[in-house]
Amino acid sequence: MYNPKSSKAEEFIAHEEVLASLEYGEKNKSNVEEIDRILNKAREKKGITHREAMVLLDCDIEEKNQEIYALAKEIKEEFYGNRIVMFAPLYLSNYCINGCEYCPYHARNKHIARKKLSQEEIVKEVTALQDMGHKRLALEAGEDPVNNPIEYILECIQTIYGIKHKNGAIRRVNVNIAATTVENYRKLKEAGIGTYILFQETYHKENYEKLHPTGPKHDYAYHTEAMDRAMDGGIDDVGLGVLFGLNNYRYDFAGIIMHAEHLEAAKGVGPHTISVPRLRRADDIDPDVFDNGISDDLFAKIVACIRIAVPYTGMIVSTRESAETRKKVLQLGISQISGGSRTSVGGYVEEEPEEENSAQFDVSDRRTLDEVVCWLMEMGFVPSFCTACYREGRTGDRFMKLLKSRQIVNCCHPNALMTLKEYLEDYASPKTKEIGEALIQKELNVITNPKVKEKTAEYIANIHNGQRDFR
Ligand code: SAM
Repeated sequence: MYNPKSSKAEEFIAHEEVLASLEYGEKNKSNVEEIDRILNKAREKKGITHREAMVLLDCDIEEKNQEIYALAKEIKEEFYGNRIVMFAPLYLSNYCINGCEYCPYHARNKHIARKKLSQEEIVKEVTALQDMGHKRLALEAGEDPVNNPIEYILECIQTIYGIKHKNGAIRRVNVNIAATTVENYRKLKEAGIGTYILFQETYHKENYEKLHPTGPKHDYAYHTEAMDRAMDGGIDDVGLGVLFGLNNYRYDFAGIIMHAEHLEAAKGVGPHTISVPRLRRADDIDPDVFDNGISDDLFAKIVACIRIAVPYTGMIVSTRESAETRKKVLQLGISQISGGSRTSVGGYVEEEPEEENSAQFDVSDRRTLDEVVCWLMEMGFVPSFCTACYREGRTGDRFMKLLKSRQIVNCCHPNALMTLKEYLEDYASPKTKEIGEALIQKELNVITNPKVKEKTAEYIANIHNGQRDFR
């Protein structure tokens, strides 16, 4: 039963309420009056309900769709400016006891090379990532209590934060591992993780159970309530996501907006990020068997409608998407992207021989980090390697307050420019450096507080003279 006051995610994201919102979207998709009402509410930039978001997603009036895209762009610019946060995934282990039908790590896959990084290998992988310029990682691992217990993950985090690099440390480790207990979330919090990321894959319980026929991930309620437990364990920042392509996109769109509403209602703070992965070809998996694929245009519409529905939530797109698709969605709401990614275990130190194939899925955007950084700047974006919020305790509702106060321009923008300057000094190719230096000079003028502007210019000069790791 749908109970909007329920503190349990599974009761909040109830099947009948998802169906009711699908019906509401279908009924109102050409209803100009209702679409205008929703757009006017959305223009207040405080979000809209899942039912209202569904109407915008379903809207079939071209002129209104253009208004939706324009509003998504406006919200993106107002809350996140032109900064794009950069990160890289790091695959720790592909041992897995689950049976996910779409993932090559599934336990039935006997020909995939199973690998788990040792602590020495982690130092090498992370050093390779730092040599590229990365400061923020997302750890990825299969679920296997024997090969990858929580102690292993904690040890990896400790190793990573302890690595000394001439250009500064890894500053934020986000973690994408299987649903676990409050006690384990508490341990992850104590280990100093940034965001805990877990994709729901699909909110459709029956299909979820079919897609996860075996292993601990089969338990829909345990998976769906993972973020509640993570927050109970003290983790402020959680990242939601659904894997588009597995299930009807409208159902999962309503589900993810409801999940965000649930966290806001039950925990007082919504998700820190929403990821929008799309299913990719992978070893032992043929995405063509899943007949829920979505077109690039539809994908862009989903991003725009999420942006409007939850304006305070960061949005992530990975290298599963091509440069062309990434370009489109960057304008509409995406605030974080990965660059130079490898999805194989140990892939940053050594490109994997074809026969081993430990990769999770095929990467579409195969450009180097430098190429991605240069490309972003050519489009007028400021690539940011910033993690200052996390280091200064601005997580959860404290981060949301900063975002809502619109003071981000005097806080995030200086930090983004300083970390970009570090990147340009330490890693950039001559072309990237030239474009970046000009961009920094231009973007200093965006800072409205004169004192902050002056201080930022001073720090940037100090970085040029060799200082690193400003807070
Ligand atoms: N093992 C953890 C779990 O089950 O949640 C998290 C790590 S898993 C490496 C990260 C995500 O990759 C999954 O949640 C899934 O959404 C995504 N994924 C799996 N197979 C994929 C595929 N073929 N194409 C694109 N993404 C995929």
